[in-house]
Amino acid sequence: RNYKIQKIDDYRWRILREGKMHVDGIVYADESMMKEIQKDESLQQVINVACLPGIVGHSLGMPDIHWGYGFPIGGVAAFDMEDGVVSPGGVGYDINCGVRLLKTGLCRVEISGKLESIVDSLFVNIPSGVGSHRKDLKLSQHEVKNVLKNGAQWAVSHGYGSKEDLEHIEEKGCIFGADPELVSTRAIERGLAQLGTLGSGNHFVEVGYVSEIFDEKIARTLGLEKDGITIMIHTGSRGLGYQVCDDFIKVMIRASGKYNIELPDRQLCCAPINSPEGRDYFAAMACAANYAFANRQMITHWVRESFERALHVSPKESRISLVYDACHNIAKFEDHLVNGQKKRLCVHRKGATRAFPPNHPDTPAAYKAVGQPVFIPGDMGRCSYVLVGTEKAYSDTFGSTCHGAGRVMSRNQATKVAKGRSIAQELKEKGILVRADSRATLEEELSDAYKDVTKVVDVVQHAGISKKVAQLKPLCVIKG
Ligand code: 5GP
Ligand code: MN
Ligand code: MN
Repeated sequence: RNYKIQKIDDYRWRILREGKMHVDGIVYADESMMKEIQKDESLQQVINVACLPGIVGHSLGMPDIHWGYGFPIGGVAAFDMEDGVVSPGGVGYDINCGVRLLKTGLCRVEISGKLESIVDSLFVNIPSGVGSHRKDLKLSQHEVKNVLKNGAQWAVSHGYGSKEDLEHIEEKGCIFGADPELVSTRAIERGLAQLGTLGSGNHFVEVGYVSEIFDEKIARTLGLEKDGITIMIHTGSRGLGYQVCDDFIKVMIRASGKYNIELPDRQLCCAPINSPEGRDYFAAMACAANYAFANRQMITHWVRESFERALHVSPKESRISLVYDACHNIAKFEDHLVNGQKKRLCVHRKGATRAFPPNHPDTPAAYKAVGQPVFIPGDMGRCSYVLVGTEKAYSDTFGSTCHGAGRVMSRNQATKVAKGRSIAQELKEKGILVRADSRATLEEELSDAYKDVTKVVDVVQHAGISKKVAQLKPLCVIKG
């Protein structure tokens, strides 16, 4: 390896600009994480991204950084609208994978005896696993196109949730500029029967409770109370988004040649933001993002139903409402300050969450005083966190923070470590019920396969790019 790393402070590291890099790399991590991070190629990927045309500020790595397709997962990069590029690898295959958090009017003791029926009811109502689909909902091509144009708004207008839900979704659940005509027939076909399904492995619906509060005032604003029951939903755009990414990788490889973009790695293939290829990708990506918003919105509807059935309570009693829904695989046009001047940029967040500060126009009205909510899932055995965005995130990281704990073991390694153990039984002994499509998933998703999320969150907290509000602990989880 031939790059130089400079320690900035206890939580930030600079990769000095050299060779073809246009900007420095900056990585958020503590000393021990930094050692781990250097074991894979992710820092080389931060450097590669710094070589792309039109990148501004820094090529950023969050503490959950690990190797990804072209761009690292846990990476943030912003590009100038005039001479910058947009890259499918900077968004990822699961376009608009993201997390939403629901709160309830229920507390831990009220449901302690009913966890079994809750988890079973969720598992029956929400299809999961590779290629999962719904038998009761097969959309026509025409209807899928409406989903692609309108996102969560489509879901709400078809009876899945309420208008209030939309206020608490990034972009109100619909990214502007989506053009279904740019989505291939193959992608649409893959999307027909998968709307309202969880998908595989790392995707989940998790019922948990607020185990600790770090900031009472902000928690109250978000509607979170100690021991209150929460539900976290993590999924994305399923086969449709995957296919959009795959289709456009081919387009972008050609475009990179056409526009003479020098690529340190073919997986970084891209096109100028203002080229036909760049605009087409954006319009197709927005479709996939909208599909993902609709997906999480529909799953929310079935979560509400599952609670009604399992607990025999009315929606009025369970009071399940949306705290917020945030994307963590997306490219967005946003205004940021560059050298003191407001500039429109194309911000890629791949395995990174937007973390806008209090009073930002895109922070929902109810949260104006506290900042945009950010959810950082950890793993199914330990805990997860609720944070809010900060001014420092806005000024230092294009309003971004981490998105999870991040893997430390490959799926293969995890399977080996889990050999001879019953992961479901181990979790049950800790009071956590899990249901998964396959036993293999539970092994691959072993807690120890992930970094300790508490350490990851401590880095973003100490670096000031988000603020800790509450910790959540799992009670029951359904996995893909
Ligand atoms: P992604 O797959 O989007 O890169 O990662 C999202 C994050 O979710 C992972 O980095 C991991 O920390 C977290 N995660 C994965 N499975 C679970 C789970 O079952 N429960 C919780 N709370 N977090 C999880
Ligand atoms: Mn995903
Ligand atoms: Mn994800």
